[in-house]
Amino acid sequence: MIPGAFTYHRPSSVGEACGLLAQFGDDGRAIAGGHSLIPMMKLRLATPAHLVDLAGIADLKGVRADGNDIVIGAMTTQHELIGSDPLATKIPILRETSLQIADPQVRYVGTLGGNVANGDPGNDMPAVMLCLNATYHVTGKGGERRIPAREFYQGAYFTAMEAGDVLTAVRIPVPPVGHGSAYEKLKRKIGDYATAAAAVILAVSGGKVASCSIGLTNVAETPLWAEEAAKILTGSSLDAATVKRAVAAAEAITAPSSDARGPAAYRTKMAGVMLSRALARAKANAR
Ligand SMILES: Cc1cc2nc3c(=O)[nH]c(=O)nc-3n(C[C@H](O)[C@H](O)[C@H](O)COP(=O)(O)OP(=O)(O)OC[C@H]3O[C@@H](n4cnc5c(N)ncnc54)[C@H](O)[C@@H]3O)c2cc1C
Repeated sequence: MIPGAFTYHRPSSVGEACGLLAQFGDDGRAIAGGHSLIPMMKLRLATPAHLVDLAGIADLKGVRADGNDIVIGAMTTQHELIGSDPLATKIPILRETSLQIADPQVRYVGTLGGNVANGDPGNDMPAVMLCLNATYHVTGKGGERRIPAREFYQGAYFTAMEAGDVLTAVRIPVPPVGHGSAYEKLKRKIGDYATAAAAVILAVSGGKVASCSIGLTNVAETPLWAEEAAKILTGSSLDAATVKRAVAAAEAITAPSSDARGPAAYRTKMAGVMLSRALARAKANAR
């Protein structure tokens, strides 16, 4: 339970952080809130020789509007997401999801950037980002790249980021006014990672689904965007038969492992149950 020895660095700019990470290569690691990385270090599943702390970089904080997008700095904490009035009004699923992550102690320091950059399929925000069609701003040796969240996740703990990269912000297109949303998460107890979870954003017009997007958490090596299921629902009134077909399509793309949270078949079924509940709640809160 004691991490290996490391040298601590505290850069004050993104450029400095990228330079340090590029210099250290595989021996270096960015640290944000530390609430995923430090437990890994204590278990010796990560043994970086250099830790590059992003906490001193003011540019990585804050929530701002940019046209029809909201741009959230990577070092914005989950607690700050919960307290943001613009987010609560425009993208309420972020607040709802943040409230289901861990406990207040973790949320005070755990960051949005750390949650989405980590690559752990158990993290809750990545599936929400797929659902919202977010884009990640990543700065590395070649300058800034913008990577769609839907192309970012490659495998458990493997992402499109390269050594020397810093994720600086998350850009989210604001969903239509009056949209409905929900994040339904099955967990064994408060503070646990998901057995399965589903994020839904939908817009309703004239009693029919005008647009729909679905993300699934912890039922594969990566978060999943359930594109086919959303297509089935679009144009429907979310009648029981169509929801059943969409749930089956979503379950079909899952590939969970059997673990302490349950056997694989159970977790797939729970993804379907979470999706049904999220659809019903998103429909009810759409205007
Ligand atoms: C008891 C407990 C329960 C938890 N439960 C949940 C849960 O239910 N759901 C959930 O989603 N999470 C959960 N977490 C994880 C928590 O939300 C973490 O805080 C979060 O996943 C990582 O954010 P962080 O800022 O702490 O990142 P860190 O731990 O500092 O970093 C995580 C990884 O991301 C990299 N990284 C971080 N920021 C950047 C960046 N800006 N650019 C490049 N790389 C970066 C780091 O190098 C590291 O590899 C839990 C944690 C604990 C301790």
